[in-house]
Amino acid sequence: ATPTAVMVGTGVGASQGVLIKGGQALESAHKVNCIIFDKTGTLTAGKPVVVNTQLLKNMALREFYVLLAATEVNSEHPLAKSIVEHAKGFVEDKENPAWPEARDFIAITGHGVKAIVENKEIIVGNKSLMLDQSIAIPLEAEDMLAKVEGMAQTGILVSIDGEVAGVVAISDPLKPGAQEVISILKSMKIRSIVVTGDNWGTAKSIAKEVGIETIIAEAKPEDKAEKVRDLQASGYIVAMVGDGINDSPALVAADVGMAIGAGTDIAIEAADIVLMKNNLEDVITAIDLSRKTFSRIR
Ligand code: ADP
Ligand code: MG
Repeated sequence: ATPTAVMVGTGVGASQGVLIKGGQALESAHKVNCIIFDKTGTLTAGKPVVVNTQLLKNMALREFYVLLAATEVNSEHPLAKSIVEHAKGFVEDKENPAWPEARDFIAITGHGVKAIVENKEIIVGNKSLMLDQSIAIPLEAEDMLAKVEGMAQTGILVSIDGEVAGVVAISDPLKPGAQEVISILKSMKIRSIVVTGDNWGTAKSIAKEVGIETIIAEAKPEDKAEKVRDLQASGYIVAMVGDGINDSPALVAADVGMAIGAGTDIAIEAADIVLMKNNLEDVITAIDLSRKTFSRIR
């Protein structure tokens, strides 16, 4: 393609909310034959809501949620925000909820959070966090997790003073049109893969819903980048689509990194292409534009 064609292609992209950072990104996109999608905030809307709670201890739901919110209010994680939002339903002043103070708060990346609230040790997160903290998971909690994950929701375990006190089910539905985008990519001979820090059960359910066969779950940021390099080593030209800080190593490693515009600044900086309208369809827009610009016209 001539420099003029590249300029035109980049301009057309910009006018459609697809920001292409340079000619190299536009060129690489037409060769992509494998796309790795982050789950939360990329395939899903990224606006999780609490949909169910199962208490395993004899305590009031309000008491449970106050302890939980006091802990999670210190976290930036979208799951934490959904829990705090839900907890507001149990207090009088929803605008200015006065959660008890949390001491010794720590966030364990990819696993959950921990703090002392009202002299109780609160631990909130996934199964592996509970295992790391030597907290036994009762059968009832296991059952609830399996059920929740089967519905493509995320189950969060809440431990109070070393015992699992409840399970919170959080739903984050697919973005509109997600299934269609995956099926169009298939017809374009492009393979799709899901990677997520979330658990295997939820990942499998979401992947099934969207029509993706290959899944990598419980992935740390470096695991996501490593998957990109593995696929490249087997000959794929790989695009990564993500929105989070935890996606940035993979966005950099990919042949084409695409960030969701509503994502974190770090992801947007790491990406070669930014999808300003937060639409998954624009993954196809970007590839089409590249194909039009770079495929030889004879
Ligand atoms: P994702 O790729 O889904 O954004 P993360 O790596 O951020 O995943 O988190 C992985 C998992 O760790 C979450 O699905 C959740 O189970 C748990 N987790 C992380 N942070 C929190 C938190 N603040 N509260 C509860 N659970 C959390
Ligand atoms: Mg994400």
